[in-house]
Amino acid sequence: MTSNFLDEAQADWLKTVNDFMDKEVTVEYVRACDSERRYPYEAYAKIAAQGWLGIMIPEDEGGSGGDIFDYSLMAEGLGKFGFDFACSVLVPTFTAMNIIKFGSATQKATYVKPFIEGKIRFSVSISEPDAGSDASNTKTRARRDENGDWIVSGQKLWCSGAAAEDTIIAMLVRTDAQDKHGGLSVLLIPNDTPGVEIRKLPTLSRHATGTTEIFLDEVRVPAAALLGEVGQGWKIITDHLELERCAVAAAYTGNAQQAVHTANRYAQERIQFGKPIYEFQVIKHMLAESQTQVDAARLLCYRAARMKAQGLPAACETSMAKLFGSETLKSCALDGMQILGGYANLPEADMERYLRESVQSTIGGGTSQIQRTVIAKSMRLPTRA
Ligand SMILES: Cc1cc2nc3c(=O)[nH]c(=O)nc-3n(C[C@H](O)[C@H](O)[C@H](O)COP(=O)(O)OP(=O)(O)OC[C@H]3O[C@@H](n4cnc5c(N)ncnc54)[C@H](O)[C@@H]3O)c2cc1C
Repeated sequence: MTSNFLDEAQADWLKTVNDFMDKEVTVEYVRACDSERRYPYEAYAKIAAQGWLGIMIPEDEGGSGGDIFDYSLMAEGLGKFGFDFACSVLVPTFTAMNIIKFGSATQKATYVKPFIEGKIRFSVSISEPDAGSDASNTKTRARRDENGDWIVSGQKLWCSGAAAEDTIIAMLVRTDAQDKHGGLSVLLIPNDTPGVEIRKLPTLSRHATGTTEIFLDEVRVPAAALLGEVGQGWKIITDHLELERCAVAAAYTGNAQQAVHTANRYAQERIQFGKPIYEFQVIKHMLAESQTQVDAARLLCYRAARMKAQGLPAACETSMAKLFGSETLKSCALDGMQILGGYANLPEADMERYLRESVQSTIGGGTSQIQRTVIAKSMRLPTRA
């Protein structure tokens, strides 16, 4: 079905990632990382060894080339056994791309090669206790001291992957109290910087990547940690959010497809009243509805990724893909829970994990309500005085 919308090379690439997930990662591994709240270091290293962390990074910067469409297909494949697993790989790529776009020559030399080789990773710290959907309400302050170093104080929240080994946190900080958007900057802060206190949070989802809160009390960071220019933070983060939404939408689609496959298989195996439960029309229709949603979600992803690959403005299309992909994952996982009956409650069925991750998918990266606001903005609704 997918190949109708992909050329041969793209279909082969998606199959390569899917096969890799089946043979080299496996659903059992992803499930174990979730139940043990363990970062998937081994699989991350295998993905790095494939050179896949370098996708989208230009070849003259040491990357593997490819565009955001190729990258989205990778995200779709990586998401198949759970969105959390895909996150552990995709989140670092957002900052890598920001370094390619906004980084100094020194930052590129320091970070890009070790990132592609899997030796370091990145996390993104935008959110704070008072800055969620209102992401620019950042209160964590950064000021320069007499040597030019940055002194950072404040509290960040929900930073996924920040506790993993060898992680550099791309942190949105306030450098000018008077200018809401123009007063923001991004600092690259290694997670072992003295004074950075990272606490893991016992969240419902994101068990493997891990989500954290971060406390900073007069933490000293070198002047060279600034990504881009002072005051460019909002631009860097906004650029990043569009890439993030495109990538996560693809991963939701991959995960939703797996939820439907799992439900479909179970409906054929489970016998009640002397016949497989898929023969009950209510079950058949739930499967048909779910598959239709997944196909629509996939097409929205492909449209957004293709537009972005062509350099077209795609904020609205990206938000549509993110909105519909996340709501589709939630609805397919919920229907999957119903189709699998009591069995769905067990970790080995995977469906409760897909459901937990789906509940976060309509929140992280901008909630479904915020996506609808972005979409409505592009509809040029009249404003009233
Ligand atoms: C597991 C997990 C991992 C995360 N990982 C990261 C990460 O790595 N880095 C990071 O920076 N952040 C991360 N986040 C934070 C995430 O981006 C925020 O949770 C999200 O942006 C929503 O912010 P909030 O939770 O403060 O909700 P709020 O903004 O307080 O929203 C609460 C409710 O109000 C609604 N609402 C708010 N404003 C509006 C509005 N203007 N119009 C309509 N409805 C509105 C929301 O849609 C939501 O339903 C993560 C969150 C979770 C749960």
